[in-house]
Amino acid sequence: MCGIFGIITNQDTISVGNIVFEGIKRLEYRGYDSCGIVSLSNSKLYLKKDSGKIDEIQRKINLAEIPNNSKLALAHTRWATHGAPTKINSHPHLDCHNKIAVVHNGIIENFLELRKELTQNGHIFRSETDTEVIPHLIESQMKKGLNFKDSVIESLKLLKGAYGLAVCQVDNPNSIIVARKESPLVIGIDEGKTTYCASDIPAFLPLTKKCYIMDDDELAILKAGEVEFINLLTNEKVKKELRTIEWSIDAAEKGGYEHFMLKEIYEEPTAIRRTLKISKEQLKIFANILWSAENIYITAAGTSFYASLAGKFILTKFLGKYIQAIECSEFQTQLTNSLKKDSVIIAVSQSGETIDTVEAIRWARSYKDVKILTITNVVGSTLTRYSDNVIVTQAGPEIGVAATKTYSTQVLTLALVALEIAKLRKVELESDIVKYERALRSTPQIIENFLKNNIDLIKGIVDTLDKSAQFFFLARGISIATAKEGGLKLKEVACRFIEGYSAAHAKHGPISLVRAGFPIIFIAPPDETYQRLIGNVMEFKARGGKIISLVVESDNVIAELSDLTIKIPQPGDKYHNIFSPITFIPALQLLAYYASLLHGLDPDKPLNLSKTVTVH
Ligand code: GLU
Repeated sequence: MCGIFGIITNQDTISVGNIVFEGIKRLEYRGYDSCGIVSLSNSKLYLKKDSGKIDEIQRKINLAEIPNNSKLALAHTRWATHGAPTKINSHPHLDCHNKIAVVHNGIIENFLELRKELTQNGHIFRSETDTEVIPHLIESQMKKGLNFKDSVIESLKLLKGAYGLAVCQVDNPNSIIVARKESPLVIGIDEGKTTYCASDIPAFLPLTKKCYIMDDDELAILKAGEVEFINLLTNEKVKKELRTIEWSIDAAEKGGYEHFMLKEIYEEPTAIRRTLKISKEQLKIFANILWSAENIYITAAGTSFYASLAGKFILTKFLGKYIQAIECSEFQTQLTNSLKKDSVIIAVSQSGETIDTVEAIRWARSYKDVKILTITNVVGSTLTRYSDNVIVTQAGPEIGVAATKTYSTQVLTLALVALEIAKLRKVELESDIVKYERALRSTPQIIENFLKNNIDLIKGIVDTLDKSAQFFFLARGISIATAKEGGLKLKEVACRFIEGYSAAHAKHGPISLVRAGFPIIFIAPPDETYQRLIGNVMEFKARGGKIISLVVESDNVIAELSDLTIKIPQPGDKYHNIFSPITFIPALQLLAYYASLLHGLDPDKPLNLSKTVTVH
C-alpha cells in the first residue's frame, strides 16, 4: 500500500515542486520506507528518490527542488512489497532510455514472467520491484509504433494483479495517464488550470475540493485542468460524477472515519483479500519445510503471539505434528539447553523490528543450525535479514497502535500455509480441502456482512457495560487465541482489566472473582469444544455473571443462555469454525474501540504503548 501523487498544470505562478512534495507528505501514512519524485521539463525527466522517511530524504537531496519550468510531476511514497526498501527499488521507475516514468501502488502478480520476456528482448532492469516491468512494457509498445495512450492500454492488458498507477512520457509533456485496478486512485481538478491524481483525497484537499473517484478497470488522461476517462473493458469514454469533498484533511486521511483503528477494522476484508493472493510458491516453500521438520517452534509477542496461537492450532490440525509456541522474550531462557539443531522456528511480527522477536531469532540462529521462517508485514525489516524464508502479509501500513488488520492477516497467512500442507500430506479428502479453501476465501465477505449490520448492536453492548472495569474473555480450543486477542484489545485501548483464559481452566481460580453482573465474554463457534463450553457458561451464569456470547448465526443454545449475543454471519460447519479466529475478531476489536470512546480515550494512541516495541 503506497501513496501516489501527480500534478499537471498550465499555471506559471504555482510551485510544482512544493505542491508535489506537500502532496506526497500528506500520503506518508500509506507508506514510509522510501520516496521519490520525477518531473518533466525541456523534454527530459528529472528523477530524485531514496529510501527513508520523506523529511529525511528532503534534508538529504532536497526532493522539492525541481526544474523551475516543470508543469508536470509524479511522486510516490513506498511500502515495499517486492524488493527491499532501497534507493534503487524506490519509485518512480523508468524505462531503458529514461523517457517513461511510472509510480505504482499494488502488486503485479505475473512480473517474473514479464520481466524474463522483456529481459530476453534486451530491456535492462535496475530494480527488484514488480513495478519496473510497467515502464519497460510501455517502452516496448511505443517501439512498435503505438502512441503513448495506446501503449499504456496495451501494456495494462498484459498485467495480472492490482494497480493504481500514473505514467508520464517525455514526448507527451501535456498529459499524465493513470489507471486503476483494485488499488485506489482519485483525481482532483481545478478546472481549466490544474489536475491532480492521488491514492487518497487528503493529498490534494488543500488545493481543490473537486474530485472524481476512479473505478476499477478505468484509465484517465489528465491534462492541465481537464480529464477524460476511458473504460478499459469496453474502450469507451466514461462520464463520471464530479464530487465536492467537505471533509477536513484529518478526517480525509482517515477515509472519513473518526480514528485509524476504526478505518483499519473496516479495511480487514480488503487486507484479507490481498493476503489471499500470496503466491502458492511461497506458501509451498513454508509447507515443505514444515512438513519435513522434526521440531517446530512458533514465537512472537503481543497480538502476533495470539495470532501465532491461532495459527499453531490450524497448522497442527493439518500438519499432524506438535508445534511449541513460546513468547519471544522467553525463547532463549526456555530453550538454552534443549533447542535441537535442524529445528524450524516460525517468527511472527507485524513490524519485523520487535526487539524481543529479533533477539530470539538472532540467538537461535547463532546458537544452532536452525531454519527461520518469518511472517511479517514489512519487507526488508530486520527480522527478514535473519530468516531463511519470508512471507509478507499484505495488510498495508497500520497506523493505529493496537493491531487489527495485521492480526487477521497473520492468522490467515498461517492458515494458507496449513492448507498447502494439507495438500502435500493428502490426509484430508481432496473434497474437504476444497471446502476448507472455500471457507477461508469467504472470510472477507463474512466480515463485510458483519460490519454492515452490527455496529449498533456493539455500541449498545458497550453502553450496557459502561461501569464494568473487569472482564473475563473465555473460550476453549482454538478460540482461546480469540479470547486472548479480543481481551488484549480491550486492555490496550479501553484500559479495562481483562483475563483472557481457557474457559475450562478458569474454574481453577479465576471464577472466584465472579459476582453478580461481572461481564464474561464467551467466544463460542460450534466446534468440537462447544458442548463442554455450554457447561462453562452455566458455571459462570450460576454465579451471577453477565454472559455475553459470540456465536454463529444459527446458534440457539449458548445464545439462549446469554444476556447479550453477538452473531457472526457464517455457517457453523467445521470448515468455517477452524477459521473463526479471523471472522470473530472484528467484533471484539469493535467492542474495544467503542469502549475506548465511551471512556474518553484515544483508541489510536493507547496509554504507555508504542506501535513497535524496540526496548527490552
Ligand atoms: N509492488 C510495489 C513495490 O513493491 C508497490 C508496493 C505497494 O503498492 O504496496 O514497490
